[in-house]
Formats: sequence, C-alpha cells, structure tokens
Amino acid sequence: MTSPVASLRLPAPARAWWALGLLVALLFAAIGWGVHAIYQAREQRYRHQIEGGLQAVNHMQVRGVTDWRRRRLQEAAALTDDRLLAQAVARWRATAAPDAEQAVRERLRILVEHVRYTAAYFVDPQGRLILDAGGPATGTLQPPEMRALEGALARAEPGVVELRRDPAFAFPFFGLLAPLYDGTASLGAIWLVMDARTTLYPLLETWPTSSRTAESVLVERQDDTALFLSPLRHRSDEPLALRLPAEPGSRDPMVLAVAGVRGAFYGSDYRNQPVLAVASAVPDSPWLLVSKVDVADAFTAAQRREWLALSLFVSLGLLSLGCVVVLWQGRAWRRERALKAELERNLRWLDNAQKAASVGYFVYEGQSEAFIMSRMASAIFGLPSDGRMTLRQWVGMLHPDERAQTLEIHGRAMSERIPLRTQYRIQRNGDGQVRWIEVWGEYGDSAGDGEPLLMTGTVQDITDRKHTEDELARYRNALESQVRMDPLTQVANRLALDEAVARAWSQALREGSSLALLMIDVDHFKAYNDYYGHVAGDRCLQRVASALASALGRPGDLLARYGGEEFAVLLPGADADAALAVAHRLQEVLRALSLEHRANPGGFTVTASMGLAHLRPADVVSAGTETRAGVDAAQPLFQQADAALYRAKQLGRDRVVSYDAQCAATLYEAGQPAPAIMLTYDI
Ligand code: GH3
Ligand code: MG
Ligand code: MG
Repeated sequence: MTSPVASLRLPAPARAWWALGLLVALLFAAIGWGVHAIYQAREQRYRHQIEGGLQAVNHMQVRGVTDWRRRRLQEAAALTDDRLLAQAVARWRATAAPDAEQAVRERLRILVEHVRYTAAYFVDPQGRLILDAGGPATGTLQPPEMRALEGALARAEPGVVELRRDPAFAFPFFGLLAPLYDGTASLGAIWLVMDARTTLYPLLETWPTSSRTAESVLVERQDDTALFLSPLRHRSDEPLALRLPAEPGSRDPMVLAVAGVRGAFYGSDYRNQPVLAVASAVPDSPWLLVSKVDVADAFTAAQRREWLALSLFVSLGLLSLGCVVVLWQGRAWRRERALKAELERNLRWLDNAQKAASVGYFVYEGQSEAFIMSRMASAIFGLPSDGRMTLRQWVGMLHPDERAQTLEIHGRAMSERIPLRTQYRIQRNGDGQVRWIEVWGEYGDSAGDGEPLLMTGTVQDITDRKHTEDELARYRNALESQVRMDPLTQVANRLALDEAVARAWSQALREGSSLALLMIDVDHFKAYNDYYGHVAGDRCLQRVASALASALGRPGDLLARYGGEEFAVLLPGADADAALAVAHRLQEVLRALSLEHRANPGGFTVTASMGLAHLRPADVVSAGTETRAGVDAAQPLFQQADAALYRAKQLGRDRVVSYDAQCAATLYEAGQPAPAIMLTYDI
C-alpha cells in the first residue's frame, strides 16, 4: 500500500500579522513622539509660569520692603514737622521744666508703644543721649548715627542709618534720626531704633505658596562683598554676619545680584544647590532683594503634576483600550462558549447516533500516517479511547485472508483519489476477536498534486449483519434446494431436472459432446395402488427412488422424479454405451430390491420399463430443425426417451429400450410427429 504522505499546508496570514505588528509599533512610536512633544511644550510653559510666579513674589516683597522704608521715613519726617513737639523740647531744654520733660517723654513713649519702635531717644545736636521714654538717658551716638545726625541737621530732614549691629542692642536694627528745630536753631533729634527681626524680616517670609526651599534674602554690596542682611533659611549665620566675595564667575544668586544681574536667572546658592532666583533692587535704598527656590523643588511639583496629568491621560487611554479589548474579548468569549456548547451538543448527538448505529468516524492524516478516531471507532478496533491508531497498527489488524486485497483497495482509492467503500475483517488487538467492518472514506482538501492527504470516513462494525446475511444465505440455499426437491422421494423434481437438462444441453452444444436421458416408468403401478393402497404405493415409490439414486455415482448424473411413478436420469457427457450400462445397472438394482407386487401380471416384484435417448445437441442444431432455447431446446431428447419408453411398454415392460427407428415408427403410429433425428441403438 502506498503511504499517503503529504505536508499539511500552513495557513498564510503570517505576513498580515507582521504588517499588523509593524502598524501597531508605528502607532506606539507616533503616540510616544506626541506625548514627548506635548510634555516638552508643557514643561516650557511651566518654566515660564514658575519664573513668573517667583518674579511676582519678589516684586510683591520689594514693594512691601519699599513701603516699609517709606513709612518709616514719613513717620520721622512727621516728627520733624511736629511744631508742638519742637516747642515742648525747646521749652524743656530752656527751662528744664518737669512738665515739659514729661511731655517729651510721653511723646517718646507713644512712639515705642503705639508705633512700635524698639527704642526712641532724644539726642542733642552733639549726639548725646538725653532722654528716652523711661527718663534721662546717658551715652553718645555711634559714628554711623553721628553721621546721620549731622546730615539730618544739615538738611533739615530725617537721616537714615541702614541696618547694622551694635553692642548696645542684641539685634540688627534700622535707625532714623528726625531733627527738631526751634525756629532756625537746632534742638537735636529724635533717634528711632527699629528691630529688624520683628518689623522688616517678616516681610520677607510672605510666600503665597508653601515651599520647602523658597526664601528671600536682602543683600547689600559692601566693598567687594555681598553682605547678607536678613536671616537664611538653610544656614544658622546671624544676619549681617555672612559675606560672600563678589568674584567674577561665581554663580551664587546673591553675588550675581550685587554684580548687577536683575530679573530671573539660574544659579547655585550657598548650599551649592541649583536654584531659580529673581533679583531686584529696593528703590531708594542700597538693598537688593533676592528671591530664590531650588530648581528641584520648583519643578518637581510641576513635573509631578505634569506626569500625573499625562499618566492620567495615558491611564484613561489604556482604560478605554482595555474596555474595548474586554468587550471584544467578552464577545469573542461568549461566541466561543456558545459555539463550544453547540459543538458539545452535536458531539453528544453524534456520539449517541454512532452508538446507536455502531458507527465511528475517523480522519486519516497522510503526513503522520495515523488515524485520529472517535470513541466509537476506537471501540470497534478494540483500542483504548485515546483516539489514535498508527498505520502499522491498522495493517497488523487486517485479517490475513483479506490483508492483501484490503491494502490494494485502499491503495487504489488513495492514488486515484476516489471514494472508498469496502468491507473486510480485522482481528482485534485486545481480545483477538475477528470482526467484520465496513469503511466509507473520502479525501478532502487534496485538489492539487503534493497536497496533504486527509481522508475522513466512517467505520461500522457489521459483524452481526454479516452473520445474519450468512444465515439468510444458508436459509435461501436450503429453500432453493427444497424448491428443487421432490418431497416424497427426496430426489430432484421436475424443475431441477429441466434446469439441469438446459444447462447440460447448452454445455454439450458448446463442447460438441453428447448427452443421454433415461425415462423410467414403474410397471403396473395403478394395480399396485389398488392392491396395497396408496400409502404403500408412496412407500414403494420412495424405495424405488432411493435404490435408483444409490446406483448413480458419477458427478453430474441426476435422478429426478418426472411425475407420478415416472423417473428420469440425466447423464451429461455419457456416450451411448455408458448410458446403456447405467440403464442396465438401474434395472439390476431394482431387481435386487425385489419389492413385492402381487398385482403385477408380469411377475411378483416391482419392475420398471426404461427408454433411453442419446444424442449430440450440435447435430440437432446443425440439422436446423431446432431453434428453441433452454429446456425447450432439449425437447428432442425427451421425445426420443419417451418414444423408447413407450416402445419398452409395448414390448412387455421390465426392459430397457434405446431409441431407434422402431421407436419412431411406434410413435408415428400413435399419431405423434416423429422426433427430428432418428438414431438407432442396439438393445
Ligand atoms: P403401466 O405399466 O402401463 O405403466 O401401468 P400403470 O398402472 O403403472 O400406469 P398408469 O398410468 O395407468 O397408472 C399410474 C398410476 O400411478 C396411477 C396412479 O394412481 C399411480 N400414482 C401416480 N402417482 C402416485 C403417487 O404419488 N403415489 C401413489 N401411491 N400412486 C401414484
Ligand atoms: Mg406412467
Ligand atoms: Mg407405470
């Protein structure tokens, strides 16, 4: 058997998958590029926003500090312009009247308690401290204050002492000297001292947003240094204690500020941290206000917000995609589940149908040389229900009597790709039982040469059907033999004789051989019946038939009951002598039987007369007198035998007469047409 090997064709959508993958990758790249661009644009915007925000804070604080200075100067100027105060001081200085001193002291107390100056003194034009809110004071002004006093008295307007430290006070302070005049004569001045910690520095701590690193610092250029005037958030140095050299190349925002840099810029502060800074000059002062925040701090929050927004956006996208996928998958899953349920239903139905019909199905894969089988098919082959049988296993199971034939049928069906329908026996592996199976198969998807060979088919166990068929055949044979048998004598009947004669006639005609027919008639049988009764007559006929049958041994010779008490013997292929010998042997057998027949006028036993006919059918046909078919064609044979028998009766019975001219004459006398061919035999 040729092996149906072929390779299974793989499905072709691999290229489509590649294209789809590429498309998805491009899509992701485009999304990535888009997100990056958006991120860049937004970061730029945030940078500007943050820089703008810091500038706004810086400007707000500069305005606060400027206002603070202006208010202080206005307050000092108001003291200079206060005529009542000047008069009270003049009177007190001139008269040393206690009420005048009291009035001045009261005014100093109001300045401390209500306007919240840290200290307020009256100093004389020489800079000596005369009076404070508590009473007489001692001491003289320090040089910075002295210079401010002299300037103030000379200009008749308040003089400023910028932020400084002095052992007289435990805090950095800001001073103002408001000159007082009595007419044109200078009386001295009111020295106002302001603690920067409680009045000025809080203005720098005003931030609209909370930040861990943001701070504003007042700086001032002194010589070639940047002097820090306000406290630092990340260092414990006292205000006015820390200086940084104003070196070129320094990136410290304070140094850059004193070097003239204004606006927003990036640098590295006293902690070496990258910072975003804004520097502004405080108008009408030597001060510079620098506001700064760590870059990391400023941008981290923004970046976090940005990432949060982006990740929210991406999450939403992914969520929508996920929802679509879940919906799609859910639909596919539901459809698959429905299909599975339907498939299972169909399989169950198929299984039941197969069980009911004892039919299994299988698929033969040429590539793997194996049968994939249903449970029923496995059961039919006596295999475990793993659904697989190799080609070798199958060949091993074929019954030796039909193996070659079965393989040949399968091989032809495969090579010619024609539907297969065959029946054969298998000897099952497991129990060794021999079973008849019927296989129907068809080849699928094998249109072209070299395509994979797949055969799908059904297999049915038909052992029971085969047994039934065999029994039916036996029954039919028995029936048929009964139809052709005489029930009384158990020898062939007229029908069987006619068929045998027709067969022998045409065979002899074909072969050019001869055949003989012997007609036998029991003598005086009516008398036998009359004498012994009909039942005894039947028994007599049975014994005669049995005796005659026992005398015929050659295959093909046939004894038949021709009718009533007449028998016929067909002797195909027998020549005249042999036929005559058979006739005599039959006479002897009958005599040897020696059946009593008291009513026989010719003797006391049963006897029979025999007429023998012998001819070659070819002679009859060549004579052109016979054109009939079947048993009718053999009519001359019957007629001759009858004529000879008739002659034997005429001659006194109990004898054999071969057909000859005398027989024909006898027949003619009797008014029947003479048989076509006249042959003479010696008796
Ligand atoms: P012949 O010697 O001239 O042949 O005389 P015959 O009496 O034998 O011939 P005939 O034709 O007059 O009678 C035949 C008889 O055979 C008549 C019939 O009763 C008898 N017979 C025919 N068939 C049967 C049968 O089946 N059983 C019995 N018992 N008798 C039968
Ligand atoms: Mg008769
Ligand atoms: Mg008779």
